[in-house]
Amino acid sequence: MNDNLQIREMQDESLINNAFQELLDAYLATKHRKKVEIITKAFNFAKQAHKGVRRRSGEPYIMHPIAVAKIVCSEIGLGSTSICSALLHDVVEDTDYTVEDISNLFGPKIAQIVDGLTKISGGIFGDRASAQAENFKKLLLTMSDDIRVILIKIADRLHNMRTLGSMLPNKQYKIAGETLYIYAPLANRLGLNKIKTELEDLSFRYEHPEQYQQIENKLAATQASRDEVFEEFTAPIRAELDKMGLEYEIKARIKSPYSIWNKMQTKHITFEEIYDILAVRIIFKPKAIQEELNECFNIYVAISKIYKPHPDRLRDWVNHPKANGYQALHVTLMSNRGQWIEVQIRSRRMDDVAEQGFAAHWKYKEGGGSEDEGELEKWLHTIKEILDDPQPDAMDLLDTIKLNLFASEIFVFTPKGEIKTMPQNCTALDFAFSIHTFLGSHCIGAKVNHKLVPLSHRLQSGDQVEILTSKAQRIQPSWVNFVTTAKAKAKILSILKREQRQAQKQGEDILRDFFEKEDIEMNSVNVDKLLTLHQMPREKFLIALGQKTLVLGEEDRNELKEKTGNINWKKYIFPFSKKTKEVPQPEVVETPNTFSVKDLDRKKPVILTEANINKVFILAKCCKPIPGDDVLGYIDENDHVIIHKRQCPIATKLKSSQGNRLLAAVWNTHRTMLFTASISIKGIDDFGLLNEITQVISKHLNVNIHKLSIESNEGIFEGQLEVYVYDVDDINKLCTTLRQIKNVQSVTRI
Ligand code: MN
Repeated sequence: MNDNLQIREMQDESLINNAFQELLDAYLATKHRKKVEIITKAFNFAKQAHKGVRRRSGEPYIMHPIAVAKIVCSEIGLGSTSICSALLHDVVEDTDYTVEDISNLFGPKIAQIVDGLTKISGGIFGDRASAQAENFKKLLLTMSDDIRVILIKIADRLHNMRTLGSMLPNKQYKIAGETLYIYAPLANRLGLNKIKTELEDLSFRYEHPEQYQQIENKLAATQASRDEVFEEFTAPIRAELDKMGLEYEIKARIKSPYSIWNKMQTKHITFEEIYDILAVRIIFKPKAIQEELNECFNIYVAISKIYKPHPDRLRDWVNHPKANGYQALHVTLMSNRGQWIEVQIRSRRMDDVAEQGFAAHWKYKEGGGSEDEGELEKWLHTIKEILDDPQPDAMDLLDTIKLNLFASEIFVFTPKGEIKTMPQNCTALDFAFSIHTFLGSHCIGAKVNHKLVPLSHRLQSGDQVEILTSKAQRIQPSWVNFVTTAKAKAKILSILKREQRQAQKQGEDILRDFFEKEDIEMNSVNVDKLLTLHQMPREKFLIALGQKTLVLGEEDRNELKEKTGNINWKKYIFPFSKKTKEVPQPEVVETPNTFSVKDLDRKKPVILTEANINKVFILAKCCKPIPGDDVLGYIDENDHVIIHKRQCPIATKLKSSQGNRLLAAVWNTHRTMLFTASISIKGIDDFGLLNEITQVISKHLNVNIHKLSIESNEGIFEGQLEVYVYDVDDINKLCTTLRQIKNVQSVTRI
């Protein structure tokens, strides 16, 4: 026994030392100043602090901090301070050591980073939505103190995703969901393109294993033909670049499984219909660094002599880098096979920035000194502004900030010719708010390229925008519906709220005056009479009075003076009860007495069978999952288990905010219970088509039409059918058959 233990300890020891040696080797290969001593000290300290603890996979715990430090070093390109912080990142969280201990041993900088990492540990998100927003806020605030905190946090998450297989399924969904919702966009925003792609692919692989596999298989099956296209397409380009005497490398860029799947989902197309799986990347070494930009264009000119360029698809990220630092020249060329192929032209430096983001900038700075993060600084500033103006709803805050994480940019010009970077899809009003709050709040319209446009006009790259204002203009509640930037949305909401508070106060004064003048006591019974009369809740009523959209008069006087014997209490408590009755009520679920959520073993997937579906496990109304869909369970506040599709937007939010209430779920149905599903059909209107569609469906023995609506407009028809099916297979078969009908263009499940 003792011997076995000793052998295991020795094995652990050599495993750990090898991993650390690999880390050191990777570090020594970088351009950073060589501070091996402090890194070794951090390693030894972390190793003894985590001694005896193992990860779920069985490995010694210290393997995790070593792996995170390796990512920080090799994949993000950071130096010794970050490597030490990564090695120590779980010490304060998981052991008895304090931040002071770290500070005494490693100095205040490393201690501060470890402190930041400890504060945001346990995932960005806590158990409750509000705690989550609080954590998110913390994250962003720490981030603006030292960006390295978030870079190390991303490395930590990447390693956890790489080793997710050893976690329980319900934890997997929580972690994968959070990763997709927040870490991948963050990585993208920081320019960590490679890591962003890996995070997305890993999340996708755990949430939709079968679809991931299918795409992988198809990619593998089509690889040979892509190689052929690549060779054929790049041969003349190589010849031309050789003639120019350039030092270069040409690579094939294959779209990642997640982006392929995402495109299939959003554009409702098949794998075969995605034309840009292959792109070509030219990475060159500039002859002189100041010639870098010109050389990109020289290459562009040279290759567009070989292949015809697409006129609308030149993307100049060289002169106008993206906010995350990305620089490259993108062109789309017509191959000899008649296929559009995107070519990305970058220098070696630009390529490093594209893969490693802001961290790569440091590599190109002598001595690794101060970082040039102009754009990043601006972004952090925007986020600080939003945080200074907190909104009551936690999820709102998160969504607002996410708006900015996801957005890609366009360039617009001020009347003076200054360039401003704005997110895609932004409106003239967003632009106004981006310049100044006053400009936004008093904006009445804009001139885009000298033409008058409304506030809601969406801007395009290259637009010249002049904002028109009027002092009389006030912020309108409807504005939040069309602005797309976080800043504008936050400003509008906060100003509206302030105005409403003022109006409510004025409303109270007006109401008091009214009662005084009529000589009626202002008590809650009397006030409630008015609320009932106007069918408004108190706050809304007062605001309406304050804003003078409601004026008290004869009717109110009568209502108050009338002697009402019977107060309609129901109406009083639920002024909108009439309306709410029209909304279909959720079915009453009879939960068997024997069942209790507390009895569920949350570590095991729940099994959905005909006997328990919609009795114990309720199918979500938002995404209507049916057998065969990738699903998960969510325990709601009433302790009911709701089954959502994994990609349902509501489930996505739950994954990030309520991860601890998730359950893994699998189907085990036996085709005895029918489910409704909706299918949308589009095509060219044709005599007899409707007949053909119904024929096809009725021939499918497993499928019954429940509802059918078809609209025809200028020769195009759009139909929606609701059908009864047993499972996803039935729908897929039905869709395939429907697609084969002549003149049917697209068939999708909705
Ligand atoms: Mn960790």
